[in-house]
Amino acid sequence: VVYLDYNATAPLRPEALEAILTAFHRVGNASSLHQAGRDAATRVDKARRQLADLLNCHPGEIIFTSGATEANNLALRAAYARGGRLVTTAVEHPAILETARAITVGASDALVVLPVDKDGTPDLGVLDAALDRSDVSVVSAMLANNETGVLTDLAPIVKTAHDAGALVHTDATQYVGRLPLDLAELEVDLLSLSAHKFGGPQGVGALVVRRDTSLPYMPLLIGGGQERGWRAGTLNVAGIVGLGAAADTARRHLEEEAIRVAELRDAFEAELIARVPDCVINGGGVARLPGVTSVTFPGVPADAVLAAMPDVAASDGSACASGAPSPSHVLLAMGRSRDDADSTVRFSLGYATSRRDIERSIVAVASAVGRVRAVLAATA
Ligand code: PLP
Repeated sequence: VVYLDYNATAPLRPEALEAILTAFHRVGNASSLHQAGRDAATRVDKARRQLADLLNCHPGEIIFTSGATEANNLALRAAYARGGRLVTTAVEHPAILETARAITVGASDALVVLPVDKDGTPDLGVLDAALDRSDVSVVSAMLANNETGVLTDLAPIVKTAHDAGALVHTDATQYVGRLPLDLAELEVDLLSLSAHKFGGPQGVGALVVRRDTSLPYMPLLIGGGQERGWRAGTLNVAGIVGLGAAADTARRHLEEEAIRVAELRDAFEAELIARVPDCVINGGGVARLPGVTSVTFPGVPADAVLAAMPDVAASDGSACASGAPSPSHVLLAMGRSRDDADSTVRFSLGYATSRRDIERSIVAVASAVGRVRAVLAATA
């Protein structure tokens, strides 16, 4: 099977696996004061530094969580509790959009969802109008979209939000470990990430809270006071050291991997367009993550295409919410029809994708689309 679903989850990096296995072979609760506990705490500290080095932030700004869903929940709930409205974009992951809806329910006017243009870029005019009232507590905008890979230019959002006294949160889950990120330059207040998107294990992630951010104390999990009281519960030492090792490896190979993966993705798209000329690359005209191709095959249902190429692991819509029968809210927000949304397949490449993978998958995809079209024509 050719695995082209890195946006759903990336394969575990060998360095992360080794770190995890080593951690599992040792005993120790990172909160215990004896030597075994201190050793576990030392391993967690190292992972915190490895992640901080990837993001160029201070290790003390990192709160380890169970993943980006939890980090997003924590960030939005605390930031919204400052008082004021919550602004986000129409193309966010459900972990943002559903959380935003849940915490603002009943408060009319408390949630502003920015529309996006045909490429998935948020409407800054609507943002300016929302910020004009100076009662916005937080603006949450993702750095890279999970379905299309489209990147958000956060700099103008951060500037106008900060000028209006609002905090900025970014869901950087698909961006971290794939493109260089410098928190000293980006100047967001809060950032969410998840280890399994960049070669760490599933079930561990982080919320970064910049040092000078004043947030009401709003932990989701209350108990033993771990993570400076922000996330109680015994630390997932093995998961955290796996995250750290993956962050370290990603940081050391970031630029070369990004270039190599973008070349493979571009070759994949060029071949795809040559073999299936009427296909449409979503977000194809704007800056995207290196490894993502969201492609619409007009009139050809994505689930039929996927079923016709069992040797290629890709996804229809967003795999994060797979099984959900509703069409992609991201593509609908970008102005696509429901039919087009249902005819869209996402291929996502990553650090271990090879040229051979691309060659094999292109043949499989072109053949699958052709066979589905032939069946549709025969039964029309
Ligand atoms: N945010 C984005 C943009 C994602 O792509 C995902 C993917 O699952 C999540 C949040 C949720 O992350 P997690 O699986 O760590 O909860």
